[in-house]
Amino acid sequence: MATLPVMTESTQTQKNWTADDSAELYGIRNWGCDFFDVSKQGNVDVSVQHTLDDGSQQTTSIAIIDIIKGMQERGLEMPAILRIENLLDARIKSLNEAFNRAIKAYNYQNNYRGVFPIKVNQQCHVVEEITDFGSRYHHGLEAGSKAELIIALSKLQDNESLIICNGYKDAEFIELGLYAKEMGIPCIFVLETQAELPIILERSKALGIEPLLGVRIRSTVTVDGHWNEDSGDRSIFGLSTSALIKIVEQLKHHNMLHCLQLLHCHLGSQIPNIRNIRSGVMEACRFYTGLIEEGAPMGYLDLGGGLAVDYEGASTNSTHSMNYQLDEYCINIVETICESLDPLNIPHPVIVTESGRATVAYSSMLLFNILDVRDYMPTALPAALPKPKQGEHFDQHTHDAMKNLWQVNEDICHTNYQECYNDALYYRDEIREAFRRGQASLSERALGDNIALAILQKVAGFIKHAERVPPELANLPKLLADIYYGNFSVFQSLPDMWAIDQVLPVMPIHRLDEQPTREAVIADLTCDCDGKIDKFTTGNGLASTLPLHTVNQDDEYYLGVFLVGAYQETLGDLHNLFGDTHVVSVHIHDDGHFDFAQEIQGDRISDVLSYVEYDTKIMTEEFRKRAEKAVRNGKITAARRQQMMNAFNASLNGYTYFEKEH
Ligand SMILES: *Cc1c(COP(=O)(O)O)cnc(C)c1O
Repeated sequence: MATLPVMTESTQTQKNWTADDSAELYGIRNWGCDFFDVSKQGNVDVSVQHTLDDGSQQTTSIAIIDIIKGMQERGLEMPAILRIENLLDARIKSLNEAFNRAIKAYNYQNNYRGVFPIKVNQQCHVVEEITDFGSRYHHGLEAGSKAELIIALSKLQDNESLIICNGYKDAEFIELGLYAKEMGIPCIFVLETQAELPIILERSKALGIEPLLGVRIRSTVTVDGHWNEDSGDRSIFGLSTSALIKIVEQLKHHNMLHCLQLLHCHLGSQIPNIRNIRSGVMEACRFYTGLIEEGAPMGYLDLGGGLAVDYEGASTNSTHSMNYQLDEYCINIVETICESLDPLNIPHPVIVTESGRATVAYSSMLLFNILDVRDYMPTALPAALPKPKQGEHFDQHTHDAMKNLWQVNEDICHTNYQECYNDALYYRDEIREAFRRGQASLSERALGDNIALAILQKVAGFIKHAERVPPELANLPKLLADIYYGNFSVFQSLPDMWAIDQVLPVMPIHRLDEQPTREAVIADLTCDCDGKIDKFTTGNGLASTLPLHTVNQDDEYYLGVFLVGAYQETLGDLHNLFGDTHVVSVHIHDDGHFDFAQEIQGDRISDVLSYVEYDTKIMTEEFRKRAEKAVRNGKITAARRQQMMNAFNASLNGYTYFEKEH
């Protein structure tokens, strides 16, 4: 088992560098939402609030490195997802209490009822924690499929918590929902298309149960951020206005307009701009008013998801950020509803939101160790250019290019580095071309690459201190950055980073009282050029490289990717057959102790093989036959065969990620 580095005895601690400098460098106080910070000891701490018996508030902080230590003692190696249950609870609490504050401040005459959209994190333990803790606020669930409805029906035990059914609904889905309604569960079908209504009417008549109905409108508010196609005329979700009118007519015809009680409007996920939210609510209120005028009773206004997470910590309306706070979000909604409905004397509806991302993002982080580092530093150059040995012939053209390259490296200074940069690339490419044509040897090619690299590193050094960086050189630091190889798979654990360029905060979780001296990008274990992280949140905005510490061969270096609780856990795939990581749920108590509330072993190799239809029993037999044949042919001994069989079986039962020697 790997031993943990001794943080306090680090030899690299620079005199002036403090943990506070690291906090600023990585921007943790901007995106950490008061849950994460750097301690004086240089560790990332997770902090939770407890209300003590006497009503006072207490903050309890735990170093993540201590949780990793606990995981190792329990045989759980990296990589792993760490969930902090308290953070889930804290987010549900903030969301509900922020709405309650806004409701009080505006003398709003109805309640807030949040629902958690299961699709954002379907993991049983997450949903159970949300329904358990959320019951005090009657926090419900949103289901977008039959499977999710089944989760909602079994995990929600509170008859005041809503179940909102979105998505395409077949007769089976509808039947389940109607039974729930009959039991007294407020289970509402949101009509996404006209085609759903006849099935609902038919099943409702057949079972003699009246449905609770909602309609999903297609908002014309286009929003900033990544999900701007979820709204607007071309949105694939929701009803056009003419479809909406037809549904109202059909309901009237069947004498069931009284079942229509909810208006649903989802503008998209991660809406960074508060103005879009206000416009969306305004438009939703107009639809709500229109349906009341048509004679529907209504009563619920469901504003969908979209409450953003500030992954960048920038407080702006850029895609991965948000230009508002939770309280402002709630106030905007409550205020806009009052302004729209009060002049018309329309009673205030129950406000429903379906916040997924903002509820669960904070509670999970991906932890992994660094396995190897590749740097782009030149090796030491010879004292002078090599001369041809006896009998050896230098190609003149190659030799001239090499001499020129050598000279550039001698001449470079802070006034001519841009010219030197261009020359270096030119001569380096001449040598590469000569190598391709067979006019330069492998060692000449290597020398040319090495001198060019030495020059590029010097250029990078100059631009670091330059006031203005020429545009063509802006990308150079990234090209020369170290590659840190991490023990994880982007495709399995951070799929949105790959699929939609999601930015997630990444930083070391220890050694933060030392100055990081390297600039790096991070590569994962897959041999895929997309398996990398090269966009980083820093205290200074987004960057293409991340400052990291040098890695000591004997010590583990741990990084955390934060705010991964939303969407990442189940969207992941089996690229290169890297499977689910271990998952650990921790609960932090007010005495400063933490429990491993749950441990889920990650996939074994035999598990992932079975997902793609391999039968590992047959595979073992096939391997045994092959080994037995080698014994018969005298290639190996029977004892060696047995060793091989043991290794084969141990691998089948092992973790899919890089395992260190035990
Ligand atoms: C995905 C989705 C949500 C969740 O959105 P967040 O931005 O994660 O809060 C809510 N409602 C519907 C209908 C969705 O499709």
